[in-house]
Amino acid sequence: MAEDLEPRFHSLGSLSEPINESNPAGRSEPTGKRNPVRNSEPVLRFPPGKQLKDFPFWEWFEAVDGCDFCGAKYQVRVTYVDDSGYFGDVEYRVSHAEDCAERFDEELNTAESIFDMAGWEFTDKPVTVLGKQFLPLKTRANIGPCLNCGKLVIGVPLILFIDEGRGGELDFCSLCFEKLGLWKELK
Ligand SMILES: [Zn+2]
Ligand SMILES: [Zn+2]
Repeated sequence: MAEDLEPRFHSLGSLSEPINESNPAGRSEPTGKRNPVRNSEPVLRFPPGKQLKDFPFWEWFEAVDGCDFCGAKYQVRVTYVDDSGYFGDVEYRVSHAEDCAERFDEELNTAESIFDMAGWEFTDKPVTVLGKQFLPLKTRANIGPCLNCGKLVIGVPLILFIDEGRGGELDFCSLCFEKLGLWKELK
């Protein structure tokens, strides 16, 4: 591991959804000056090769995202993992707050749960973004991980495509995307 990989900001630019939708806090406008702490933070990296099978099996745990209205987190459990360990099925549900408008939502009300396919595979080439190294995903089923916090994302992740997707993709939850300052890098 001799040399650092080149940051590839020029090729980061595709988002899976419009910026304003999942950024209710509002995006701070870049001022043009570099963030002074960007290189002093320790290298942070999603556990290399973490698989679906590394999550608890048949045991409810919290996803990173949840109901947009009341803020209740999705709960998720892994119900099946295939022989590879990377792919399988999960079940998820959400317990809305008493006064949440989504409480009686037809698709996912408090009494319901939904099954979906989950899983992902990594590329073998890490990339450096804002001084942090990440191993991009080569493929992902409907549900995959946030590559920063390592939790599962039930809704739509924010995606940075590496080399227009040829180098895989970096998926993040909206909280980490914000925390890492990635909005600025998309300008
Ligand atoms: Zn809710
Ligand atoms: Zn995250």
